[in-house]
This record gives sequence, structure tokens and C-alpha cells, in this order.
Amino acid sequence: MARQFFVGGNFKMSVVLCGVGREHAVNGSVETIKKIIGLINDAKLDPKTEVVIAPPALYLLLAREHLKPGLEIAAQNVFDKPNGAFTGEISVDQLKDSNITWTLLGHSERRVVLQEDDQFVASKTKAALDGGIGVIFCCGESLEQRESNKTIDVVTSQLRAVKEKVADWSKIVIAYEPIWAIGTGKVASTEQAQEVHAAIRSWLKKEVSEKVAEETRIIYGGSVSEKNCKDLSKQADIDGFLVGGASLKPAFIDIINSHL
Ligand code: PEP
Repeated sequence: MARQFFVGGNFKMSVVLCGVGREHAVNGSVETIKKIIGLINDAKLDPKTEVVIAPPALYLLLAREHLKPGLEIAAQNVFDKPNGAFTGEISVDQLKDSNITWTLLGHSERRVVLQEDDQFVASKTKAALDGGIGVIFCCGESLEQRESNKTIDVVTSQLRAVKEKVADWSKIVIAYEPIWAIGTGKVASTEQAQEVHAAIRSWLKKEVSEKVAEETRIIYGGSVSEKNCKDLSKQADIDGFLVGGASLKPAFIDIINSHL
């Protein structure tokens, strides 16, 4: 079974403003989120590509109201408890109630800055899947870990924490995002990305099942642009992209259409 190409846009907390000859990031706002969505709605998109965008939590409902049907919205995070006194958190049921069908989990910015560990990310993954929403599960190594040849160990231990809690992988998209490539302009080479994606797929085959290995989308994230997406998309084990900075620009459309 061919895996459907998948492109996610992680808006993070910002948008990019393009000026004459320069661009800079500012906080997202009602106006800028509507502009980006307008750009996506008006573009001719590859109908075979699944597209999911992840605006900041405050704008999830606005995004759902404006984004055209057939394209989905992800939260950038969700909590692992169903309800209660958890100030500042959002539950899976609240996402579902708002027609938000996906969540990102385990983004390195949350693992590093907010110190979320593998167990907590896995527990949130289980909560999301049990509640019926899809998970874009991010994993990836730091530069130091890559330079000491620990890439596969790091990525597979992040995945193992999920395996210990989750049986059904059908709603998981794995996003391999080397930390050194996120927001740095330093994209992994096609060979580096393909090598890790293939290693993740063989880990799935050995540790989960052949079917899960065959069917799970493994997407690449880290400085993906309209320039490098074509080559990356041709790799056997790269099934799409998670896009940060470029998801806020017209380049996002080229990336969605990179598999045409
Ligand atoms: C990300 O935030 O998931 C990401 C990949 O960012 P960027 O594309 O800007 O490197």
C-alpha cells in the first residue's frame, strides 16, 4: 500500500513578515493567521497530499473556521489528563470538541526548553490516540548526539517510550527532526535524512510489526524549503515534511506540491 504524502506546517508562536529585501519573525496574530490561511486556501494543492497546519492554541478555532474543508488542523501540544485542575493545559476532548483532529507532540522545542521527557511525551501520545486524534510525533537528535554517533539510539529510545504505551500506530505520523537542522537553515542532506528514516522503518519492523513499518508515514523536518524539498521527497523512506519557518510563506505551497 502506497503511503499518502503528508505535509505539516508548524506555525510555532510566530509568523514571518516579508519586507523589501528582508524578512523577520513576529508573533502570530488574528490578521497574519488569516493571511497565511488565505494563501493556502487560494493555492492549487496536490490533492494526493495530506495537509495539516498547527497554529498557536489561541488561534485553533479561528484557523478551523477559515481553513477550507479537507485540510486539517493540529494543536502544537495536548495534555495527557482528561480534565481537571490543570491550569494552562488543553485536553484531547477539548480539541475534538473544536474539530481539531491532530496534535504535534514531542517537538524538540518542548523537549529541550520545557524539559518534556520521553515518558511524558509518550503518555500524551497515548492520551491523544485513545481519544481518537492523530499525532505528529517528533523525534530527533542534537548535534552533540549526532557527532557521537548516537542518532539512532536517541531516536529509537524516543520511539520505544511510545511502543511501551501504544498498540495502534495507525494514527501516528513520525516526524524525524534533527535538532541541529531546526530553524538553522542547515538541512540534513538527502542521504542523512534517508539513512535515519530507513533506520526508523527497520526499527518499526523489528519492534512493532511489518505492517506498521510499511504503513507508517515518516516525515522529515528541519529547514525544509522550496529549494530542498524536491530531492528529499524522492527518497524511498521520506513520506513528507514537517515545516516550520517556510510554512509561513508562499514556499509552503511548493513544499506541499513537491511530490507532484
Ligand atoms: C519545526 O519547527 O518543526 C521545523 C522543522 O522548523 P524549521 O522548518 O523552521 O526548521
